Amino acid sequence: MSGLGVHPIAPDRLIATAAREIVALERSRLPNLSGLTVLLPNLHAAGSFGRALREAAGVPTLLLPRFATLRDLAGQTEPGVARMPLSRRQAMIYQALRATEWFRQGDLWHVSAELLRLFDEITLWQVQLPASGEDFLQQLEAAYQARRGGPMQFEARLVHELWHAMSGSGELDDAAHYQLQLSLLAAEAPGPLYLAGLQALMPVEQAFLERYAQAHAVHCFNSDGSQGDPAGLPYLLEAAWAGPEQAAPLHERAAACRSNAPASALGQRISLFGAHGLEHEAEALAFRIGQWLAEGKTAIAVVVQDRLVARRARALLERAEVLVQDETGWTLSTTSASTVLMRWLDNLDSQFHFQDLLDLLKSPFIFSAWDGARRRNTVYRLEQLIRRHSVVSHLHRYRALAGEDEDVLELLQILYEAQQKLDRKKQRPLASWLQSLQESLELLGILPGLQRDQAGEQVLRLLDGLRHELSPDATLFRYAEWRQWLNQQLEEAVFRDESITSPVVFTHLAACRLRDFDAAIIAGADAAHLPGQGRESVFFNQPVRAQLGLPGRRTALESERQDLTGLLTAVPEVRVTWQARKNGEPNPLSPWFERLETFHVLAYGRSLKGAETIPSRIRAAEEQDGFAALAMTTRPAPSLPSALVPGTISASGYNSLMACPYQFFARHALHLNELDEVALALEKRDYGEYVHEILHRFHGRYPVVMECAPDEIEQALHEISREVFNRAIEADFVSHAWLLRWQAAIPGYLAWQQQREREGWRWQAGELACTRPVALAGERQLTLRGRLDRVDRRGQEQAVLDYKTQNFDSLKKKLKPAGEDVQLACYALLLETPPRQAAFVAVDEEVVRQLEPPEPLAELAGASLERLQSLFQSLHEGAPLPAQGVAAACQYCEMRGLCRKDYWNE
Ligand code: SF4
Repeated sequence: MSGLGVHPIAPDRLIATAAREIVALERSRLPNLSGLTVLLPNLHAAGSFGRALREAAGVPTLLLPRFATLRDLAGQTEPGVARMPLSRRQAMIYQALRATEWFRQGDLWHVSAELLRLFDEITLWQVQLPASGEDFLQQLEAAYQARRGGPMQFEARLVHELWHAMSGSGELDDAAHYQLQLSLLAAEAPGPLYLAGLQALMPVEQAFLERYAQAHAVHCFNSDGSQGDPAGLPYLLEAAWAGPEQAAPLHERAAACRSNAPASALGQRISLFGAHGLEHEAEALAFRIGQWLAEGKTAIAVVVQDRLVARRARALLERAEVLVQDETGWTLSTTSASTVLMRWLDNLDSQFHFQDLLDLLKSPFIFSAWDGARRRNTVYRLEQLIRRHSVVSHLHRYRALAGEDEDVLELLQILYEAQQKLDRKKQRPLASWLQSLQESLELLGILPGLQRDQAGEQVLRLLDGLRHELSPDATLFRYAEWRQWLNQQLEEAVFRDESITSPVVFTHLAACRLRDFDAAIIAGADAAHLPGQGRESVFFNQPVRAQLGLPGRRTALESERQDLTGLLTAVPEVRVTWQARKNGEPNPLSPWFERLETFHVLAYGRSLKGAETIPSRIRAAEEQDGFAALAMTTRPAPSLPSALVPGTISASGYNSLMACPYQFFARHALHLNELDEVALALEKRDYGEYVHEILHRFHGRYPVVMECAPDEIEQALHEISREVFNRAIEADFVSHAWLLRWQAAIPGYLAWQQQREREGWRWQAGELACTRPVALAGERQLTLRGRLDRVDRRGQEQAVLDYKTQNFDSLKKKLKPAGEDVQLACYALLLETPPRQAAFVAVDEEVVRQLEPPEPLAELAGASLERLQSLFQSLHEGAPLPAQGVAAACQYCEMRGLCRKDYWNE
């Protein structure tokens, strides 16, 4: 028997009814149905379909039919014709577009991908494009209902010319290959064919069914247009969602629904929950899943409409040790495996900009042959060098910093060799670029790491596959073109972790067709996410697509609505969640659920919203479990075990202890000092360091300036200044402004220096590293350390000077509270013989002046030493280190996030 039969069935009964009808039609074959083929939307549905068949057959043993999807079944035929892979087709279109110079270089890959999608649709929807460009233009003119103009002519020419160029290539594209597979399958037609729940078939698939039906019976069971029982849920949903073509207004349809079914078919089945933000929605979702699992549910679907919510909920579930089977996956480009690859290429693009470089080197995938500790230590040392010397980019500059450090040198050498593999100046075929990329990854020791990682393995498979597919293509591409192409490939590939099997499945609406779930959550069901926005084609607007016979938005919406109906009718408990407020603004629910809510209120006087009481229950659960976040509302005051009290202290550490003990605790006991920031452009702090270096070099060469002619000495200081600043100017020309600023201060500095020499002082040493033991009680010892900018001598007397690029008045303020700033006192303590003088020198002013503390130096030094001893003595005895910085100390304190000053309950 042959023929094509279509059987509309209400969605809530589709599997059971289809199974009964198949058994009725094939009773003569029982108990062996293995000669039949049943096509399903996905293979997850095979289990429940098999059970329904067994039940309908009522025989103890039943040999089940073959279950397959249409794509899989078609894939089992081999047309024996070469198929041109997508990647090669895209390269061909790109090349053709590049030759026309119609588009900007940067858009070409995007346009070629769009054209490919359009061409596939033209094939699958069996659209016949006219042979002549003029006829196609006329067709578009009619479809747009507009006179031809530049843009229309361009669109017509682009599509028409490239379509014909691609069709004449002699190799089949994917869509044509599928079409050929279907026609071979129809010709073979091995036995009766049944389809269940396959909605919205494409014209090539419809044509296949018709042809197949000439040889064997084909029966399609689907829910197109069938609402079944007027008291049932599909009927209610259809009445609520009916389009404008429905004559009766909503309230009349609601009244009719109530008279058919006095009790709501929705019952307790569906509830709508409006969260007040992303975190709230994710928490509600995780909580509900936890409850369902505790109730013993074993198949829970989360239909992901908003990926951000899903990602957060997934993290919460994983924290509660509930793993999630994620069928939606995420783009391969967001995995750490592809990040290491992209970061490597970023390094080539940015000449090893330090941020790209450090990101790359800190990836766990790189240098896999190195011992972990060696790699980490080497990277740490390199980072310290980069930060200390503010080197921003270029391998040769990093190499110059490395000195004798063999590991750092080796690491930089490997990077250099890997860089050589990808010569950015050359033009090459895509496959050749991929080959070189792979070689560079091998040198960098990234390949083994990727091979061990699931996503990494998928990245490698993708690259291998593309290289293989593209090997016949000899078109040359510049590095930048290849890089854009590679980004697109990683953006479009989806990674799914298939190692996890869990009762909780994150999936999408279309993948739920005919599947058995105990409960489901539709997450992120706001107006922006449901219905989905679909992929808008850049070619032809919706009416023109309809005129040409291409699928439009309406088809996609109808299919999505049918899937939603299928889910709501098949799953006994469904929660719909959305963020009722986003960024403080109201965020509307999906129009479909908003309509359902209105309809339900009209029909049954009961809202579907607000039935959920998740938030308070979550809080209660958290509190019970002791998980409530501990709000830090008081200022911290930790104390240190004696063994952890630092054994050395610098002048700045002592100042920190005086300004805020907690700051000292965080910086010098926990060693949480900020890493040196790499200065992209010269900053004030670097300016100070440069000035220090200039003066050190200058006085090293000219200890007594009065011995030289004033012009000569000024000239020398200018030269040294240029030498030192050149480093910064090379990296950033704007640094020149800092040099000019310093040069303006040179005459003032020399005048001050000469005056000092007239007073009898002579430069003696600079950049002097000193330490001094400080005895504490109980044989404990502390070491005071510091680096003195400059020591002068006058006969037997010494002076310690500290250069400052701050202005004179702020230095004055610094020294005003007696004994509070301990820097000069510490420097005085660090000299073997107590100095006669300790002073700041404000070197960055037109008139350079020095500033001494108001108290007698010996007294100040003595008091500072005593206080240091007593403070450390108390620290060893467990004295607290309270956070008590005043506004000036807190203003630039990097520990503010740690002491949580802004959250104290005071
Ligand atoms: S922010 Fe203020 S109180 Fe907090 S650690 Fe820093 S200096 Fe102390």
